[in-house]
Amino acid sequence: MDISYILNELGEERENYFNAIAPPIIQTSNFKFDTVEAFRQALSDEYQGNLYSRGFNPTIDILRKKLAALDGAEDALVFGSGIAAVTIPVLALLQNGDEVVCVENPYSWTIKLFNDFLPKFGIKTTFVDGSHTEAIEQAINSQTKLIYLESPNTFSFDVQDLEAIAKIAKKHGIYTMIDNSYCTPLYQQPISYGIDLVAQSATKYLSGHSDVVAGVVTGTKSLIKQIFEKEYMNIGASMSPQNAWLILRGLRTLPIRLEQSSSTAEKVIHFLNSHPKIDQVIHPFNPDNVTVELAKKQMKKCGGLFSFTLKESSLNQIEAFCNELKHFSMAVSWGGYESLIIPACAGISKADFNSENQRHILIRVYIGLEDSEYLIKDLQQALEKI
Ligand SMILES: *Cc1c(COP(=O)(O)O)cnc(C)c1O
Repeated sequence: MDISYILNELGEERENYFNAIAPPIIQTSNFKFDTVEAFRQALSDEYQGNLYSRGFNPTIDILRKKLAALDGAEDALVFGSGIAAVTIPVLALLQNGDEVVCVENPYSWTIKLFNDFLPKFGIKTTFVDGSHTEAIEQAINSQTKLIYLESPNTFSFDVQDLEAIAKIAKKHGIYTMIDNSYCTPLYQQPISYGIDLVAQSATKYLSGHSDVVAGVVTGTKSLIKQIFEKEYMNIGASMSPQNAWLILRGLRTLPIRLEQSSSTAEKVIHFLNSHPKIDQVIHPFNPDNVTVELAKKQMKKCGGLFSFTLKESSLNQIEAFCNELKHFSMAVSWGGYESLIIPACAGISKADFNSENQRHILIRVYIGLEDSEYLIKDLQQALEKI
């Protein structure tokens, strides 16, 4: 399906709402029925239509149709946060005694899900270096039910071979799930490689304006229905119609925002790579990566997130550099219009900081929609002061 058709037309039944171009926010909790028989029908299978907005809602439906189509998936569920779009499907797939093989260093709350939360239900996780497909296959045992991927992840940008891993999983009868927030469906299509479930934090690029927390998962109709009927309805982490509307508005400009963020990031990376005070710039298309060819094969482009290290990576130097920046905001999240910076050391107590540990000295940058020269000048002046 054409991306322009998906973003501008798909799912929008304008004749049902006065031919308005922008869809209405159907701000209702419930829907009425004219006969007991129609009510009985609706209650017997909530997946088929509108009954109560913890399940489905017309504004939410427009968004679900677009997000499923963007992923090349049969259906989508949307959630009140990205981490709910990870946690709820994982809970739906697993039983007590099952095991998970997960790539190293996924999103922080995904680590907590596998390390702290799932063990309460007797579910064990093994973390492996996903850049070696053999390591994933070796970690599989008879209890393994799910392989969880994040390619690339959003601090060290490790990449996994989605097609090869999906094949191994199918051979063993194991589900595969990926967090595709970094690429979005515009730059990577995991379902086309055989991955079963694709999650994204819609807080990031999809909504794109740093004003919504939301998530999405896509997959086959049967898997999505299975997630919807139990864990989705029971945990109740659904999205509000208002937030669905904001994401629909954000989606209209997704291709141009992504293009701007990505091409400006390329220019900023070029600047940093040639600066004497910079040691390493880390991103999926870095020619030094063992997985660079794979990344170029399965991803159309890199997004606007990358990390770098200073040549002199003392705590004082990192802090001085970040404190000097005028136009990069120091804040969590990414995918909005504004450029951001997170030094990894902000998440580590001063006593634990070790300048020899690569993960402690990383400085993560998100490039928003500003002009490249504006951002480069800011980085330059901060680098001059250290
Ligand atoms: C932000 C993020 C999440 C979590 O999404 P929320 O919307 O914050 O709940 C999950 N994965 C990745 C890669 C993220 O960046």
